[in-house]
Amino acid sequence: MASDPLYITMHAADNVAIVANDGGLPAGTQFPSGLVLREKVPQGHKVSLVDIPEGSAVRRYDVTIGYALQDIAAGSWVHERLLRMPAARSLDDLPFATAVPVDGTPLAGYSFEGYRNADGSVGTRNILAITQSVQCVAGVTRFAIDRIRSELLPKYPNVDGVVALEHGYGCGVAIDAPDAVIPIRTLRHISLNPNFGGEVMVVSLGCEKLQPERLLPPGSIAIVDQRGEPEPLDVVCLQDEEHVGFMSMVESIIRQAEVHLRRLDRRRRETVPASELVVGVQCGGSDAFSGVTANPAVGFCTDLLVRAGATVMFSETTEVRDGVAQLTARAATPQVAEAIVREMAWYDAYLQRGSVDRSANTTPGNKKGGLSNIVEKAMGSIVKSGTSRIDGVIAPGEKIRGKGLYYAATPASDFICGTLQLAAGMNLHVFTTGRGTPYGLAEVPVIKVATRSDLARRWHDLMDINAGTIAEGKATIEEVGWEMFRLMLDVASGRKKTWAEQWKLHNQLVLFNPAPVT
Ligand code: CA
Repeated sequence: MASDPLYITMHAADNVAIVANDGGLPAGTQFPSGLVLREKVPQGHKVSLVDIPEGSAVRRYDVTIGYALQDIAAGSWVHERLLRMPAARSLDDLPFATAVPVDGTPLAGYSFEGYRNADGSVGTRNILAITQSVQCVAGVTRFAIDRIRSELLPKYPNVDGVVALEHGYGCGVAIDAPDAVIPIRTLRHISLNPNFGGEVMVVSLGCEKLQPERLLPPGSIAIVDQRGEPEPLDVVCLQDEEHVGFMSMVESIIRQAEVHLRRLDRRRRETVPASELVVGVQCGGSDAFSGVTANPAVGFCTDLLVRAGATVMFSETTEVRDGVAQLTARAATPQVAEAIVREMAWYDAYLQRGSVDRSANTTPGNKKGGLSNIVEKAMGSIVKSGTSRIDGVIAPGEKIRGKGLYYAATPASDFICGTLQLAAGMNLHVFTTGRGTPYGLAEVPVIKVATRSDLARRWHDLMDINAGTIAEGKATIEEVGWEMFRLMLDVASGRKKTWAEQWKLHNQLVLFNPAPVT
């Protein structure tokens, strides 16, 4: 970081900016503009550029992020205790498809090496996934998978790995409650993720509420037998009478796994257009730089992907709620705008059931990183969606069936959002972080982007891209966006591994279950 005092303003109409320098700046520091700090301001935190009278709007991103609770003199540290948060935008009278962006110039000639599937989707990895219908079978499956890894995988070198789709759902739940469709379809669609090649096998206990045929009804799997008939679901049921003793269960799982490994091993990568990418973008452990460096670079890359004909999804409902009017205006059609409102209204009601609102989102780390409240966090988060037209909306756990930019409605929780994006059909994941998180998934490669050079330096073997160079003036948002786009093609092709893959940093799947447990 340059030693000259530097603040970053997002919009000419803003009356606050953030301090860019590592370690923050002491009282008395004078900026080139002539502004003098009245007190120490930590890195990433806001400084008032002018006198802000009590009750008036504090603006960043050309948006009111709060109202001053007292007079704030120019050069003061503007932290969350000085701000009253504005109310959420009403979901009535929103602009529907009033500012639909025109198509960007098509971006042709970009491709990657992927695994084409029978259903037309393309995988970036070749993985055997073992679905579980209930948590009860997790220990047995894990034991079997350890043996599959050591005894079988060496015989099938074209298979990248084997993962258990382990989760806490399946029994002890109100399975007929309306909202139970969310965890059930999530698990179904994850089993059909492009990286698993359509090879589905289920380990079931037998007596659980989520019976395998409810999880994966006939016809939900694309694989057909030699006569062209859909193959019956491959289920290993631990309570079957054929199983005598623990080892017989383990042997059944291993035997069935080998059937699928044999088929997966025959798959080969082939050159496919970049339009086959299905990218999920997310942020976690955010700081004030997220919305200045990494997220704008992701947004630029999102636009590149859309121009290349790919599918990109942005999510994290509480982090886009405060930008709802920009999203409904960008919707391709009034129907898409309506679907955005439907998902946000559902989420408002869900939070209200728990007696909270969107402001429950921010973490102590966000605040330490300079983000005062959810409005400010949301303005930095939403830029990951870029500037393209919003082509579609899916509810939690649904699968995307088209191309272009999608709003996949999910909670902002990193692991729940990632789990739902897997269900949506994601074959590549991009994750930005300012405070730092070692997040990773076993099911898809996760490219992690640091918002600050200090984090990129300290976590040099965890961060794949450093967007902190943007704040230092060493690179532009466009340059980092292009770097990200090219890295995506390399990672999707298997030419490069992400750090999370290298270290096998795999977070658990966490199903979103808004329905009651019993
Ligand atoms: Ca998140």
